[in-house]
Amino acid sequence: MPGFELFGEAERKEVNEVLETGILMRYGFDAARKGRWKAKELEQEICNKFNVNHAQLVSSGTAALTTALAVLGIGAGDEVIMPTFTFVASFEAVLSVGAVPILVDVDDSLTLNPEAVRAAITPATKCVMPVHMCGAPADLEALQAICKQHSLLLLEDACQSLGATYKGNYVGTIGDAGAYSFDFVKTVTCAEGGAIVTNDAATHTALDAYSDHGHDHKGNDRGADLHPFLGYNFRISELHAAVGLAQMKRLEEFLAIQKKNHAIIKETLATIPQISFRKIHDADGDSCGSVSWFLPSEQKAKEVVAKLKNENILAGNFYWYDNNWHYIRNWHHLKNLSTYNKLNPEQIDELEKLSSKNFPASDAIISRCITTNISLLWTEEQAKNKAEKLKETIESVL
Ligand SMILES: *Cc1c(COP(=O)(O)O)cnc(C)c1O
Repeated sequence: MPGFELFGEAERKEVNEVLETGILMRYGFDAARKGRWKAKELEQEICNKFNVNHAQLVSSGTAALTTALAVLGIGAGDEVIMPTFTFVASFEAVLSVGAVPILVDVDDSLTLNPEAVRAAITPATKCVMPVHMCGAPADLEALQAICKQHSLLLLEDACQSLGATYKGNYVGTIGDAGAYSFDFVKTVTCAEGGAIVTNDAATHTALDAYSDHGHDHKGNDRGADLHPFLGYNFRISELHAAVGLAQMKRLEEFLAIQKKNHAIIKETLATIPQISFRKIHDADGDSCGSVSWFLPSEQKAKEVVAKLKNENILAGNFYWYDNNWHYIRNWHHLKNLSTYNKLNPEQIDELEKLSSKNFPASDAIISRCITTNISLLWTEEQAKNKAEKLKETIESVL
């Protein structure tokens, strides 16, 4: 799954070009940088690759979500509907702009259940934020229809699904805006970084300004920039962008390896009649960074996990139900309102409700789910061995 597994010459070359000039910043210093604009080049690469009009690089995927929410005008008291299964960054971003995260159930696609979204809409709802979890798209057609009907914004958290598509379009490019992450364990890495994509020019102008203190970036004198709006500093550095540029150019290479190894794992697991798989909303669009599969019961899933741990083959296999990064059950800090900064009254009210809320529909899915990550380094033989070992362990429990 992660691009860091294949860090090499191409990445070093791009970084060295930046080191040669010493211009580590993405803006200004036009003469000294000798025509090297890695951040700009990477933004163009993203636009070309994903067939989208605009891309704005920022310092992380979390910053990408935060910047997108801010420029889409989402703030104090506004409700953002998001899934119970994601990474903590999704609600961090919502809270950081003063908005209220409304958590709703996922279905067996491991993404937002459109019916649960519909049921959660109130007069305060401003935005639906699907998360394309574990490499595959959410039910975008259904979610788009809901957003249209209720005049809501659609912000895609595509941080885990770079290169995945939905009905022929790349995830992230379908909603009003989409966020990608290039952190160290994502499909393409630049150590720390992220991007927002959009087809709307005005949104892009705002993204560009907001992520750099609101500077309007007009003219050639950075010191003379005006500030039509308040902003923040979520800039990416040229060093990070240089790594990202080399990695982005390798996306097809990474996806091809993922597809091959993914097929080996999935085909082997499919020979076990009691195993079922995550629903994929567009099978051709799966980025194949992982395979998510279900045991018949929570009890059996826990036995398989224990056995994988005992036999030292748990690494690369994730049991989300007990994990505190990705599933609501163990987001105690969120449910206990353990924040350093003060929350606003609407946020406090919702999080207090959340602390006693149960999500039996999500539990019934996540408690039986195990996700196997696909490595870019496996040879065909290694992938086959992994698959067989996994199969043996599962069958010994069933
Ligand atoms: C990784 C991730 C993020 C945040 O990305 P960072 O670059 O680590 O800040 C947001 N959402 C999801 C679903 C992620 O997996």
